[in-house]
Amino acid sequence: MRFAISTSGCKVNQYESQCLREGLLSAGHTEQPFSEPGADWYIINTCTVTHRSDADARNLMRRALRLGGRVAVTGCQAVVYPEDIRAVSEEVVVVRPERLGGVFGITLPQAISTFDGHSRAFVKVQQGCDMFCSYCIVPHARGKPETRPGEKVVAEVNALADAGYAEVVLTGINIGLYEGGLALLVEKVLSETSIPRIRISSLEPWTVEERLIALVADEPRMCKHLHLPLQHGSDVLLKAMGRPYTAGYFRSLLERIASRSEDIAVGADVIVGFPGEDRALFEESRSFIRDIKVAYLHVFPFSPRPGTPAARMDGRPGDEEVRVRARRLRDLSREKRQSFARFRMGCEEDLLVTRVCPGSFFGVTSNYLTVQAKGAATEGDIVRVRLSEMDGNTLRGETLEQHADC
Ligand code: SF4
Repeated sequence: MRFAISTSGCKVNQYESQCLREGLLSAGHTEQPFSEPGADWYIINTCTVTHRSDADARNLMRRALRLGGRVAVTGCQAVVYPEDIRAVSEEVVVVRPERLGGVFGITLPQAISTFDGHSRAFVKVQQGCDMFCSYCIVPHARGKPETRPGEKVVAEVNALADAGYAEVVLTGINIGLYEGGLALLVEKVLSETSIPRIRISSLEPWTVEERLIALVADEPRMCKHLHLPLQHGSDVLLKAMGRPYTAGYFRSLLERIASRSEDIAVGADVIVGFPGEDRALFEESRSFIRDIKVAYLHVFPFSPRPGTPAARMDGRPGDEEVRVRARRLRDLSREKRQSFARFRMGCEEDLLVTRVCPGSFFGVTSNYLTVQAKGAATEGDIVRVRLSEMDGNTLRGETLEQHADC
C-alpha cells in the first residue's frame, strides 16, 4: 500500500504522525509526498485549536480527494468535530487516533526511532489535560492527563541519540502535569542519556517548579529556553479564561527565572480579542507585556471553539480591531526579539543546524535565536558561533573552531 501523511498543529501531533509512519513502513508499506497522486491512502492528522486550523484541514481533504485514493482524517478535529469532516464528503473516513492501528491493520509502535524531516526530535512524555480553560477545546480532544513512564522516555531519547539527533524536545499536551514532577523526569533523562541538548516545550506558568528552573539554568545540556503561555496581561481576562494565576504571579515567575540565569529566553503565548477585551484591558495587557522580560511572543487572535464556555461569552471586539491589536503585539514581539538578540551579541553559542544553503547555514541556539552563519555545515550538527551582527531581523554569527564561554 502507498500512503501519504499531512500533519498540522502541535508537536504532539508531529510525534504521533511519526509513530504512524514508522508503523506503516515497518509493515512494508511505502510513503510518498502528500502533494502527489498515486497514494492508496491520504492521511490527514488534524489540529483544531482555531477555526483556521479546521478550515485548513477541510482544504487539505478536498485536495486529497482530487488526487484520488482514499482519505482518512484523524487527530483532534476527528475526535471533537467529526460531523464537520463528514460534511466535506461522505467518502472521507474519520478515524479516532486510538483506532489508527486497526484501520490500517498494523500495531502502532510505542516509540519512534527517527523524526522524518526534522533536525531535532520531539519526544512525547505526557498526554491530556483536565484544566478546561474556558477557551480551550484540547481537553475534549485529548482526554485526561496521562504520564509516560520515565524508562520509556529514556529509551526513546537514547534511540534518537544513537540515530544521530543532537537535540530532543520533551513535549506533551500539558507537560507540567507530569506525575511526580517534570523536574524528576528531566533529571532522569540527563543522567541516563547522553543526548547533547534537551529542550522543554510549552509549560503552563503555574506548573513551573523551582527545581526545573534550576536545572534549565545550571545544566549545560539543558536548552536555556522556556515557553510559557501567559495568554493575557490583565487579571480580569485571566480569570474569564479560567487561568489559575494573576499577571503579578507571572511577573514574579519571570523574576525568579532571571534571578537564576539571565541567559534563559522566555517566550510567551498571548490571546488577543478574547470576549470582554475592551480597549482599556487590551492596553493594560500590552503595557504589562511591554514591561516584563520576555524574549518573544506568539500572538493568537481568539477563535471561539464550539462547545467551550468562551464561545458563548459576549463582548468580542470586532475583527478589524482584533487585527490591529494583534499587529501591535507582533510589533512588540519583534522589538523584544531584537532586544534579546542585542543582549546576546558577542556571545558564543552552539547552533543546532536546521537548514543548509550554498555558502551558509541557519541554526537555532540553545536560547532559541535563529542565526545565519557562513561556511559549510550538516543539518542536525551542532556548530559553535559568535553572534556578530544584526541585519534587520537576521542575526548573523561567525563560525568558531574552539569552544569558550561568553
Ligand atoms: S492548560 Fe493548556 S491544554 Fe489545558 S485547557 Fe488550559 S490551555 Fe488547554
